[in-house]
Amino acid sequence: MDVFNNNKPEAIDTQQDDSIDAADSRVASQTDSRVEDFIKCCLCGSDLVFQHQVNYSSLAVREDAHCPACQIRLRSRDHILH
Ligand SMILES: [Zn+2]
Repeated sequence: MDVFNNNKPEAIDTQQDDSIDAADSRVASQTDSRVEDFIKCCLCGSDLVFQHQVNYSSLAVREDAHCPACQIRLRSRDHILH
């Protein structure tokens, strides 16, 4: 029984190390797919074309993304420059 109790903590330590590594790689792959969603068309998967227009009166940059294949505008965001 003593041998069993001594071995148990070691086994738990090894499992924790493995799960941490797996969690790290899972987070990394999620981040990659989010970046891909952002730069690729959600309908056809083509690379999006980004355009930036600077509005000097309001000091903002408007970011438009459109898909050249689908001819749709997907995203428009304003970035304030201050
Ligand atoms: Zn598309």
